[in-house]
Amino acid sequence: MARNMGKLLRKSGIDIIGDIAWGSRICLFYQTPDELIDILVPYFKAGLKNNEFCLLITSELPDKKATEKILRKSILDFYTYVEKGQIEIIPYTEWYIKNGSLNLPRAVKNWGEKLNQAIAGGFEGLRTSLNTSWLEKKDWQSFMEFEKGDNDTISKKLTICSYSLDDCEGPQIIDVVNNHQLALIMRHGKWDVIKKHEHDNMRYDLEKHVKELRCLYDIARVTGAPDITLNEKLADIVKILPLALQQPEMAFSRITINGDEFKTANYRDTNQKISADITVHGAKEGSVEVGYSEAPPLTENGMFSKEENLLLDAVAERLGAVAEQRQAEEALRESEEKFSKAFNASANFVAINRLKDDKFLEVNDSFTRITGYTREEALGRSAIDLNMWADEDEHARMIKIIKENNIIRNQEIRIRCKSGEIRTGLYSGEPISISGESCYLHTITDITEQKQSQELLQSVSYSSPLGIYIMQDDKLLYTNPQFQRITGYSQPELLGRELLSLVAIEDSDVVRSSAIYTLQEANPYPCEYRILNKTGQIKWVMQTVAPIHYEGKGAILGNIMDITERKYLERKVIEYEELSKMKSDLLATVSHELRTPLATIKGYSTMILDYFSRLGTEETKDYIKSIDNATDRLAKLVDNLLDTSRMDAGLLKLEKSPTSMGRLIQGVVVEASMRANHHHIITALDKNLSRVNIDPKRIRQVLDNLIDNAIKYSPQGTEILVSAKKTGPELLISVTDRGPGIPADELTNIFDRMYRIEQRLFSGADGIGLGLYICQRLVEAHGGRIWAESTLGKGSTIKFTLPITGMMNSKKTKPLAKHVS
Ligand code: ADP
Repeated sequence: MARNMGKLLRKSGIDIIGDIAWGSRICLFYQTPDELIDILVPYFKAGLKNNEFCLLITSELPDKKATEKILRKSILDFYTYVEKGQIEIIPYTEWYIKNGSLNLPRAVKNWGEKLNQAIAGGFEGLRTSLNTSWLEKKDWQSFMEFEKGDNDTISKKLTICSYSLDDCEGPQIIDVVNNHQLALIMRHGKWDVIKKHEHDNMRYDLEKHVKELRCLYDIARVTGAPDITLNEKLADIVKILPLALQQPEMAFSRITINGDEFKTANYRDTNQKISADITVHGAKEGSVEVGYSEAPPLTENGMFSKEENLLLDAVAERLGAVAEQRQAEEALRESEEKFSKAFNASANFVAINRLKDDKFLEVNDSFTRITGYTREEALGRSAIDLNMWADEDEHARMIKIIKENNIIRNQEIRIRCKSGEIRTGLYSGEPISISGESCYLHTITDITEQKQSQELLQSVSYSSPLGIYIMQDDKLLYTNPQFQRITGYSQPELLGRELLSLVAIEDSDVVRSSAIYTLQEANPYPCEYRILNKTGQIKWVMQTVAPIHYEGKGAILGNIMDITERKYLERKVIEYEELSKMKSDLLATVSHELRTPLATIKGYSTMILDYFSRLGTEETKDYIKSIDNATDRLAKLVDNLLDTSRMDAGLLKLEKSPTSMGRLIQGVVVEASMRANHHHIITALDKNLSRVNIDPKRIRQVLDNLIDNAIKYSPQGTEILVSAKKTGPELLISVTDRGPGIPADELTNIFDRMYRIEQRLFSGADGIGLGLYICQRLVEAHGGRIWAESTLGKGSTIKFTLPITGMMNSKKTKPLAKHVS
């Protein structure tokens, strides 16, 4: 028996089956031709090796030719076996069909003949495979009956019947499995084998397997279908799922995914259900549930079998893949939508063309608006076809840039529109791939108007009589020719320079605050200031500024007008006005001052003439003395006026000679004492006062003036001190009185021309405010200084210096400096 068995068992060549007995019939369920090849190739290899006659009955997919090609490729000595007559491939049409219809008796006959032929040919037996995919639905039942009846398990024959899962429905699969000893099925990516005797015992399990398999295949088919949306797929899957359960008629299912829900109509929220999570990259995106809407009859497998749980996991896994695909598709759709929105909404001209022939594939709305070509006119044509390049050289330059860099950015180009109008744009572009095709994306920003206004502005700015500049962060960014003319600097010298560096230092605050005011109040606030031009000349300008936006940042647009000439005239007018005011002041004062002594002279002279015979000698003498004093005052007044006008005209000359100051002062004081017999004039003179090189007449005039003031502005009976001493290289001479003093804030004013302090104590003191002015001019002409010191209520001291040096130039005369005020 053991020996016999040894002879009877054959190598199947299929790993999970191992050895099988003669007479074995195996059914094979496959979904793809690859699965078929996966089993049949090793099966026939083993047969050929073990000297069996191999026979393949083919259907259409793969047909005889394709099958031969596969075998040739996978079996090394294929042709040797063909030559030996060990292998034969016969199409089903020659085996099963006669006169266009199924002829099973013919097939039975064929099998018998082939087996005999094999044994006669010296082969061990017959190894066959047949494919049933040609079988029409109407013939299915008779074919099944036929297979069922074929219970020849004794002949030296091995058979594999292959069934495409696309052709079988659940009950048919059960039929097939029933008719064969072994069934081969791909489950979870691996071949599984079901043996008939096991199946007999576990028919129920088998049905379960089949259902499960069916379910997975159906789901795979639905998810792989190309033309339906994912939502439709999910809706189909919920219908498939209940069929896999033990009690399909009362089962429901539900899928929730990313907030969307798909469920069968009988879905109920019950605890008679199981569920599995759908995850994408480890994150839960939803779940799949199956269950019963009413309590199912209990079976020995429990309400949900282990397989059902596993199946649900497998489905969830599959749905995870679907969800991932859905997310990817969603993302793609979103990005496509965004792109197309941006494409159409862009204010820029955007066009895409194919690289291979430069034809436009797509153009946006702005393209049609700017160029005037409709979309239909543009698509399928190139820019050259439409004659859009306005300048050939420009076109060549762009092509060169693209060749070198692939991309192009903001190049100024001109395009010709349909109307012939030429527009200017900034051109950018880059390569893109559309459905695998190499294309180029062109973007053009229309800057025609901008450019025109820029050119207009430029020509205005060029010819403007105003100096125009643009300043950012205090630095000049632009200046026009007039600005350069005013400042004397060239454009390169100006750019990057601070405007304030051109402004005269005294005016920088004015410029700064006017700019700040303008920017804060958004109101142009003109200001006038001085610019120091390149040659050091002062230029007066009037400026207004305005805030602008320049090259993406805040900036200041300023314009300046050269008002140097106007300023000069203005100053002249002011000077003239001052002068004429002074002249009229002088006239008023002088006429008053002249009139007073004149009135005295006239009065006394008339008295003497009218009453001469009646007047006494003393009386007459007094009158004549008054006339004499008034004449002196008049003469002095005229002298002062003449001196001032000579000085102002620069005509007064000093006649210097070495002079003893001691003696000069003594002489002055003696004469003054005679004039002023109500004051005590005393002196305090250093013993050896040097001789100084002075104009003695003029210094005597200074001293006379100072002593006369002291007499005039201090009470009778008080003392006047005239002192002189040497201090370093100078002589210091001073005249001190005991008068009311001079207020501190008037100490310098009193030296101004025609300046007089309002007289309170000495309201009768005559004068026209020229005395100290003349003194100052004379002292300064000698190289000395003059000033006043005073304590109010105690008296005043007027001091002046004279340089001791300068003896060598004793004979030289020096004109007084022309007065400038
Ligand atoms: P005048 O004496 O003709 O008014 P001066 O130029 O000599 O003109 O003097 C200018 C002014 O200075 C005087 O008007 C007087 O107010 C003041 N002043 C000059 N000398 C004295 C002094 N010794 N004491 C007080 N005030 C004086």
